[in-house]
Amino acid sequence: MGQKKSNADQKKLDRIVTEARRNQELREQSYRGQALKLYPWICGRCAREFTHKNLNELTVHHKDHNHDNNPTDGSNWELLCLYCHDNEHSKYEQTRFDSNLQAGKRANPVATHNPFADLRTLLGNKK
Ligand SMILES: [Zn+2]
Ligand SMILES: [Zn+2]
Repeated sequence: MGQKKSNADQKKLDRIVTEARRNQELREQSYRGQALKLYPWICGRCAREFTHKNLNELTVHHKDHNHDNNPTDGSNWELLCLYCHDNEHSKYEQTRFDSNLQAGKRANPVATHNPFADLRTLLGNKK
């Protein structure tokens, strides 16, 4: 009896998990697709270029690290290769760690460097 009930619960749980996972995948695919349409397939850090062949090594990074923040103008996205993306996240963790340590001190202004600014100049020169 108890066995039967927990099986049903488990199934329900499985379904919820599967649906949540699928929703997340769909969302990831849609913002990835949009970002790949918006931006040239170049890593925003090391300027490595990508083609259909190695496109799976190009990732969409969220500048504010909030994966739920997906404005359609792409202002929160940045295309980064796997390595630079990794780097970006460990840097972010480090920054958070540092700012926790310096909680009492005045916060430093956030860096506003935009890698796509350079990119635009580069592309412009090529023309
Ligand atoms: Zn890179
Ligand atoms: Zn990221």
